[in-house]
Amino acid sequence: PAPVLAIVGRPNVGKSTLVNRILGRREAVVEDVPGVTRDRVRYRGEWGGRPLTLVDTGGWDIDAKGMASRIAEQAEVAVEQADGVVLVVDVTTGVTSTDEHVVRMLRRAGKPVLLAANKVDDERGEIAAAELWSLGLGEPHPISAMHGRGVADFLDEVIEML
Ligand code: GDP
Ligand code: MG
Repeated sequence: PAPVLAIVGRPNVGKSTLVNRILGRREAVVEDVPGVTRDRVRYRGEWGGRPLTLVDTGGWDIDAKGMASRIAEQAEVAVEQADGVVLVVDVTTGVTSTDEHVVRMLRRAGKPVLLAANKVDDERGEIAAAELWSLGLGEPHPISAMHGRGVADFLDEVIEML
């Protein structure tokens, strides 16, 4: 079976944009997992000729009060079922407490993680991306999911991780 890659992170960091970029804008909702898992949408894709299943953890309603824990809960289930994880962080807003919450969960889960520093649309964003070393997840990979900048090199690393 195709390895499973969970895409996690706060709302609006660009998770779904990254999924669409990987899928080549295919309308590719293969499975809308029912019940308590409805917030995790699975897609079948491939990169470099290798199949992979993407799990986009977006789409649930945000209850502002419980936001951090709800996101982490959804991300946690996706991560448990994944072979590897991409944590997406938005460099234009920087690290928030929600990001830190998800990072702690990822540490506990012990799955391989790569860090995507998204919204690095041009070289000016590279400096902000470097600040994400502070998350303790290793090298932040600067990408622009929207424009494609850095995405191919990043995905080559993702495939190697899986
Ligand atoms: P999600 O909630 O994490 O799935 O985020 P979305 O993929 O829905 O994106 C949230 C917003 O960020 C949208 O307005 C996107 O167009 C925008 N966005 C996503 N990726 C990028 C990027 O690389 N650069 C910029 N400038 N905006 C982006
Ligand atoms: Mg989304």
